[in-house]
This record gives sequence, C-alpha cells and structure tokens, in this order.
Amino acid sequence: MQTHSVYADYSATTPVSQEVLQAMLPYFTESFGNASSIYQIGRKNEAAILNARANIAQCLGADPKEIYFTSGGSESDNWAIKGAVDALKMQRKRHIITTAFEHHAVLNTCQFLENHGFEVTYLPVSSNGMVNPQDVEKAIRSDTAIVSVMCVNNEIGTIQPISQIGEICHEHSVLFHTDAVQAIGNIEIDVKQQNIDMLSISGHKFHAPKGIGVLYVRNGINISNLIHGGGQEMGKRAGTENTAGIVGISKALEIAVSHIAEKNERLTPFRNRLIEGLLQIKGTRLNGDRIQRVCNNVNISIEGIEGESLILLLDMQGIQASSGSACSAGSLEPSHVLTAIGLERESAHSSLRLTFGENFNETDLQYILKVVPECVEKLRNISPLWKGGQK
Ligand SMILES: *Cc1c(COP(=O)(O)O)cnc(C)c1O
Repeated sequence: MQTHSVYADYSATTPVSQEVLQAMLPYFTESFGNASSIYQIGRKNEAAILNARANIAQCLGADPKEIYFTSGGSESDNWAIKGAVDALKMQRKRHIITTAFEHHAVLNTCQFLENHGFEVTYLPVSSNGMVNPQDVEKAIRSDTAIVSVMCVNNEIGTIQPISQIGEICHEHSVLFHTDAVQAIGNIEIDVKQQNIDMLSISGHKFHAPKGIGVLYVRNGINISNLIHGGGQEMGKRAGTENTAGIVGISKALEIAVSHIAEKNERLTPFRNRLIEGLLQIKGTRLNGDRIQRVCNNVNISIEGIEGESLILLLDMQGIQASSGSACSAGSLEPSHVLTAIGLERESAHSSLRLTFGENFNETDLQYILKVVPECVEKLRNISPLWKGGQK
C-alpha cells in the first residue's frame, strides 16, 4: 500500500512555481502582443523582455546585451558550439575539446561536427567524476576553437573546476563554454569571475516552464546564427519572442539564485543521510564524488538489480526517481556518464539517481530509506544476477 509520495527527479524536470506562473499568466492572454509591434500591447511585451534580460544578466554577473533567449538547454548548447566553430572556421580552428560525460546536447553536437570535418577530443573523467584542468591544458592545440565542459554533471551531480578551466582557456586564447543547466540554484555562478565565455541554462530545471532557455555570450565574441529569420535577439536568434517563457525564466532565476545558501544548508544534511542510509544496503556504491557534488543529488549502483525495474517498482510506491539520465531511458545502452567514470556495463545498468527539491523533508527521507531497500530485496529475490553479494 502506498502511504506517501516523493518526486525525486528534479534533474529531469521541476514543476513551475506559483510565483513564476503568476508572473507569466498575463502574457498568454491580455498582454499577448508581439514584442516587435509598435502599438501598446506590443510595447508592453518589449518592455517585459527588456526587464527580464536585465534581471537575468544581473543574476549571472553579465551585461544585458550578453543574454540571448533560446528554446532551452539543448538549443543553447548546440548554438554555442556550432555557432562558435562556424565563426572561427576561416581562422582554420577545427579542433574542439569536451569531456566524455557531457549531456547529449553537447556530445551529439560534437559528433555532428566530427562528421563535418571537425576534430573532437573527448577528455576522460576520474573515477569520482571530476575533470582535471591539466588534462584540458594538455589537450589544447594551436587549432583549438572551443572547450566545452559542464558545470555540474546531470547524472552524478559532481561540481567541476570551471573557473580554473576557464582561466586555462583564456591563457591559450581558446573560447570556453559551459553547460550550467544543473548548476542553477545549487552553486553560485558569476560569468566574469569564473572566466566563462558562453553559458547555457534551461528554465524547466529550476521552476520555469519547458521550452525556454538562455545562452550567455560574452561581449566581443561573434557566433554564427543557429536559427535564421527575423531580427529578434539582436539579429542573432530569429523567432517571435516567447514573452511568457522569458518572464518566467527571469522570475525563476531570480528566486533560484537568491536561495542558494538556504537550499544548500537545508538539503546537504538530507543528501548525506540518504547516501549513508542507502549505502547500508549490501552491494552498493556511490557514483560521483561524495563532497564535490550538488546538495540534491544521490546516485548509487546496486548490485544484482536492473535500474529500470527498480524505477518501476519505486513508482508503484509513489517515488519518482531515475536510472541513468532521462534521455537515455528506454535505450539499452548503459549510461555514458557511468561508463566514463569506469563502471562495468552491469553496474552502469543498476544505478539509481535521486534528485530532490527544495521542499524535501524528514518524512520523504524516512520513506525513501524504507522503500528502496524493500524494493531492492524484492528484485534481488527474483534476480539471476544476484548471488547474495559474493561475486
Ligand atoms: C536538461 C539538460 C539539458 C537540456 O535542456 P533542455 O532545456 O531540456 O533542452 C542540457 N544539459 C544538461 C546538463 C541538462 O541537465
């Protein structure tokens, strides 16, 4: 019998908050005008977008004219990398550096570019899920156009040494892009202090709706358009502005960045107790560094079970979690993140990721610590893979 429910898949997506929804609502109905129109409801939209751009810039330590609205994290990642290498191709810069455990929005963009004559270096990550800045430096060549390393990994939550990597890139006059989608609201971001040239964020990961994102591009950096058409976004990204989404992501970002300390204080002890509690289950291991990880991520491998079966059992008990990333769910390939940190296929298939929200509480913790071991036992009892922990 299900007695409680916990949504623990915040890295997949988050609900739109009431404050964000209220800020957005007028732009669907009475203030529906096109921001490019010269009559009043058009102007009102233009003003709202101007405001949002300034507010977002302030939250990230950027200038308003460095902020571009996109359709989300995937578009921002695609645009940053494709746009930068296209703008640099006349300088014969045909080399890209990234890491083996990036989000597919970065990895598949790089693969696409490999098919179009670019060369890509995929840096390894350590067994605790960290990128070594020295590896970045060693990989830089005279024809390197761009380095793209994520701020926070979406599966194992590890926080990367972004500012050091950015510094190295600048010493070598190489552009530095970071996918900061999972960083927002968890760690401080200041694009100038952290030596970031381009940064991607996605609204739906921090209580704005799906389908709105931002790409920050430092002043003076020229990137080619990804979307051609009208003159919106300073001529760099065509398409009638999603005013409601833009107002929503601005509100959500403002709330997220003003609660970072509070969120960390509240969630870190829960995260640590969850890790300790779940590691009591025989045959488990933590994936990703224990300390250098965001406050709301727990990722463990559980010997002798199959991740997807566990997710389905947990769902019947009212717990929503994930195994691998949502994007690779449904595919039989093991998570590329877990194989990048050295897990065998089998342990990569037996992972459980819990990513929880700001309101996570003691009851949620106790419920997870009761239900997960019960489900694991059930699965192990019927599993040919489980031999009681003696491998
Ligand atoms: C979710 C996510 C994305 C994709 O963002 P969308 O807005 O869903 O396209 C990119 N990178 C990371 C790290 C993510 O977690």
